[in-house]
Amino acid sequence: MSGPEVKKHRAKFKKGRINRNSKVTKTKINHLKLSVDCESNEISRLIEKCINASVEENCKFSDFPLSKKTLQGLTQSQYKIPTAIQRESILPALQGKDILATAKTGSGKTLAFLIPIFEKLYVNQWTRLDGLGALIITPTRELALQIFETVAKIGKHHDFTTGLIIGGQNLKFEKSRLHQLNIIICTPGRVLQHMDQNPLFDSTNLKILVLDEADRCLDMGFEVTMNSIIENLPVERQTLLFSATQTKSVKDLARLNLQNPVYIAPHEKEQYTTPHRLQQNYVVIEQKNKLTMLWSFLRAHAKQKVIIFFATCKQVKFFYEIFRKLRPSALLLPLYGGMNQEKRNKIYTEFCARSNVCLMATDIASRGLDFPKVNWVVQLDCPEDAIQYIHRAGRAARLNTSGESLLVLIPQEENGMIEQLQKSKVPISKIHIDEKQLFSPLVKIQSFLAQSPELKESAKRAFVAYVKSVALMKDKSVFKVSNLDMEAYARSLGLLVTPRVRFLSKIGAAPKNVHTDLKVTVAEDDVDSSGDELFTVKCSGIPVVEEKTTSPLIKGTKKKITKVKLMKKASVTNKKIVFDDSGHETELKHDEVYDIEKARVELMLGDAEDKERYKALKKAKRVAQKEKLKRKSEEHDEVESVDHFDSGNEQSVDLNWLPDPDKIYVNHSSSGSVVDHKVPKVAVKVTKKRRTVNVSDITLNEAERLAMDLLQ
Ligand code: ADP
Ligand code: MG
Repeated sequence: MSGPEVKKHRAKFKKGRINRNSKVTKTKINHLKLSVDCESNEISRLIEKCINASVEENCKFSDFPLSKKTLQGLTQSQYKIPTAIQRESILPALQGKDILATAKTGSGKTLAFLIPIFEKLYVNQWTRLDGLGALIITPTRELALQIFETVAKIGKHHDFTTGLIIGGQNLKFEKSRLHQLNIIICTPGRVLQHMDQNPLFDSTNLKILVLDEADRCLDMGFEVTMNSIIENLPVERQTLLFSATQTKSVKDLARLNLQNPVYIAPHEKEQYTTPHRLQQNYVVIEQKNKLTMLWSFLRAHAKQKVIIFFATCKQVKFFYEIFRKLRPSALLLPLYGGMNQEKRNKIYTEFCARSNVCLMATDIASRGLDFPKVNWVVQLDCPEDAIQYIHRAGRAARLNTSGESLLVLIPQEENGMIEQLQKSKVPISKIHIDEKQLFSPLVKIQSFLAQSPELKESAKRAFVAYVKSVALMKDKSVFKVSNLDMEAYARSLGLLVTPRVRFLSKIGAAPKNVHTDLKVTVAEDDVDSSGDELFTVKCSGIPVVEEKTTSPLIKGTKKKITKVKLMKKASVTNKKIVFDDSGHETELKHDEVYDIEKARVELMLGDAEDKERYKALKKAKRVAQKEKLKRKSEEHDEVESVDHFDSGNEQSVDLNWLPDPDKIYVNHSSSGSVVDHKVPKVAVKVTKKRRTVNVSDITLNEAERLAMDLLQ
């Protein structure tokens, strides 16, 4: 009999609801009593054992005071011997202590916090009615999903309800079931959303809070969200923090209100901080050679499982699109933040399952993910710091398996980054590329870009995103945007013209070779998608000493004419000066003549309308084209039986689908009914809107003009 059932029946016993003379037979009652007693006995035994327990170095999970249900789950998943972090952290966690644990990537931290969760809820005889008992917070959705899968596997003999609460899922569905969950695995943003919006969310009974990848959860990116979450949780709780690169910030620990935490770091005394079977190398190449290097690498490792890390989503997108066109022999999979969750899940699962596959990812894949048997991790763009390097590289060589890591650096990054890695006890060696083995796909890429404006746009975006990411890096001893050879980098992506990165002039960190003129430029080639300024001043002729300035935002920037300033200026010209009878100025009114705010709203509305119209027009063209193609293929089928080569003049324009002018003249009375059934409705509607032509009044000339419009 399961835990909740026993508890339910026990409650019924107490309340006297079970009538001994009713349908429940005596044997059933006895059986019930027996299992209740068994479970109670087991719980008392576990609690007792827990207080005095100690484990040897070569112990098994069965040597721990664990419930039968947990042990069953572990054995069935082939987990018999605990890893170092599990051996050292499970007991103190079972004893209710707060824990601050650091252990290498792939060393089994997940079970180290899941086992205590199962046990804590078990000894408290937790049921659905008790609500939320354990909250596990992770920085990424994929990691949450992975932990959820492990809970399902190891905890399958327990009766706890578990929920995965991550962004990109059905919020309504989550809302209605949240109150029934005993264990929640979540990302910070989503759980806070429920705390704020969902009256059913109740954490008053919470026993354990776990932060996996704790240093990431507590860093600046999640600071505000995490503070709000912590505020909403009961103070009386056990807190467990796990990471390969643990936070040592007292401020962080104070935020979490840890009570005498136990520090556990089984690998602290080891020579290196990375897995011992991870072979780590780095190469130094110019930025412009990265694409060729990566393509050559993928050709040479086509039968292996590879993860490539990029600095930004847009680079992943572009490299994925272009490499896919080059037809690599291995399957390519992109993974980045902007994708919808369903696609992300699919890619995650597919990458786990396959053996010769290449995942092109941003840092959303750098933390915690346990992809089986990854042969290579390539960091094509330099990581932000040694911590990020350790996590990315740690996707390979998980738990005593071997793997390789390759860090790609550009010359300016070498000294700073290698110094940092050495300080962080990362064993890494320099290797050189055999240039004979490089295959440049540049000519092909240029032709792809020439054929596809979308691809060209994607290349521009990748370029700008990369430059921007370098400019925004904190560590200026490693990342020097002004030293980048922009021209060469743009060419290497297949771009003939170097996109302008307006963002750089904004922060005053323009590269060496830009113009010297100081003039106001209107952003005609707005390649920087996040650029929100319409007017900027180019001022790079004056040398910008970017490295020396701690705040490039202030020191490197020359006088700028911003949109806001222009708006302010404009508002002054809109003053209405009112004079009294004697000719004196009495008041200034800004709004009566020309209300800028109103105009802005109007413009926005106009924009939205234009967009809608443009969308409808495009759709109409698509439909018309489809229709045309369909008709052509029908004609072609007919003609084919007569002569294979005379399949119609491709240049000739097929106007059969147009409204029949005769019909139009006949049907003057009802404008809706005149639309020939062959004419795509939207096309007619759009044209009507644009020209405000009433279809019922259409003349033959107008119909022809309409046809030409739609064919453009
Ligand atoms: P970490 O969180 O430290 O990076 P994970 O918890 O993801 O590591 O575990 C890494 C791998 O080790 C997983 O594939 C997991 O199944 C496996 N593993 C964990 N604990 C054990 C164990 N006691 N015995 C065998 N394999 C284990
Ligand atoms: Mg982990």
